[in-house]
Amino acid sequence: MDFAAYAQRAVDLVNTPIESADDVRTYLGHRTWVADLVRDDDVTVLQGFRAGLEEMADASAATDGAAVVATLNGLLAKHPIRPMISGHDESSWHLHIQDDSASASETICAETLFGLAMLVSEHGATRIGRCAATDCDNAFIDTSANRSRRFCSTRCSTRMNVAALRRRQQAAKEVR
Ligand SMILES: [Zn+2]
Ligand SMILES: [Zn+2]
Repeated sequence: MDFAAYAQRAVDLVNTPIESADDVRTYLGHRTWVADLVRDDDVTVLQGFRAGLEEMADASAATDGAAVVATLNGLLAKHPIRPMISGHDESSWHLHIQDDSASASETICAETLFGLAMLVSEHGATRIGRCAATDCDNAFIDTSANRSRRFCSTRCSTRMNVAALRRRQQAAKEVR
C-alpha cells in the first residue's frame, strides 16, 4: 500500500465532481478492476462521501485540525475498512485495504480514508489546502516544511504570477 498515493487519490476525489457512474470510472482511470465493479448505488455513496471530504478540506484549509480529525473519524466510522491479506500468486502475500466482497465505493472510501489518516498521523491535520488562484478551489496536499504551498498546480501558479506581473507593468505605465 502506498499511503501517499492514497492521500493523493482523496484529494483527486475532492477535485472530481461525481454525477454518474461514468464519472466514477473516469476518476478510477487505469484501475479497471475497481471500475468494472461500479454500479449506480456507488454514485450516491460517493456523493455523500465527497461532501464529507470537502468539509474536511475546508477545515484543513482554515487550519482547524480538530475539525479535520473529527470529520475523518466520522467518515471512518461510517465507511469501515476491512483489511485482508491477499496473494495473487501465493509467493507474494500483501495487504489489501478492503476484502474481496467490497463494492467500488467501499474500496474508494477505504483507500482515501486510510491515506488521509496516515497523512494526518505523519504530517499533521492541516496539510490539505485549497488553491488560492482566481476561479479555482481545487484541494492539494501540502507537505512543505513551512506549509507554504498556495496553488493546486503549476498551471494555477503560473496563471497568477502572469496576472500579478501584468498588474505591476500596468501600474508602472500609469506612473510614467
Ligand atoms: Zn493485490
Ligand atoms: Zn488551482
